[in-house]
Amino acid sequence: MRVLLVEDDEMIGRSLKQALEGAGWSADWVRDGELAHSALGDGGYTCVLLDLGLPRQDGTEVLRRARERGDATPVLVLTARDGLDDRIHSLDLGADDYLLKPFEFRELLARMRAVVRRRDGAAHSLIGTAALQLDLTTREVAVNGVREALTAREFALLHALLERPGAILSREQLENRIYGWGDEVTSNAIDVLIHGMRRKLGADAIRNVRGLGWRVAA
Ligand code: CA
Repeated sequence: MRVLLVEDDEMIGRSLKQALEGAGWSADWVRDGELAHSALGDGGYTCVLLDLGLPRQDGTEVLRRARERGDATPVLVLTARDGLDDRIHSLDLGADDYLLKPFEFRELLARMRAVVRRRDGAAHSLIGTAALQLDLTTREVAVNGVREALTAREFALLHALLERPGAILSREQLENRIYGWGDEVTSNAIDVLIHGMRRKLGADAIRNVRGLGWRVAA
């Protein structure tokens, strides 16, 4: 799953990006509000971590513009302790949650899971169908009740497909959800990934719809 990290502090940004990638997220890091605005416009993010005090364009302005154009990507605001007005303002503008700096990385991950879950409309951490259930906390899939571990990319792929079981996602949409800016994406990367997933989940778990993309049965 891809996260957009918006943070102008080099040290915080670098360590967060590293920690997020260690936790299986693909993290794109931008250091100012204008770049955040254009990255969000490209879409594909599961979640945004948004610092408020940013060069070129304030974090609250990035948020306001995103919500104004109908972008519903979950936004978790990362803010300093003294910024009460900013926090209230950002929640009113459509932020999903906030976290005070400095924070424990484990708490950040838990809050990211929580805002993503709420966006998926699930009160708990399981999404999917009767046959295929994805656990957003453990990142395991249950295939007819049998649990299987997933790699970060397999998890991102299944998460995208299971958000709306039955909906067809194109190659481009899947690539957009799985790979970050630094990732080398070969033309058959999705095919290879799905081939491996079928061995794990069963040949029929992910169906190809010729010329359009892939879906899971609703
Ligand atoms: Ca800042």
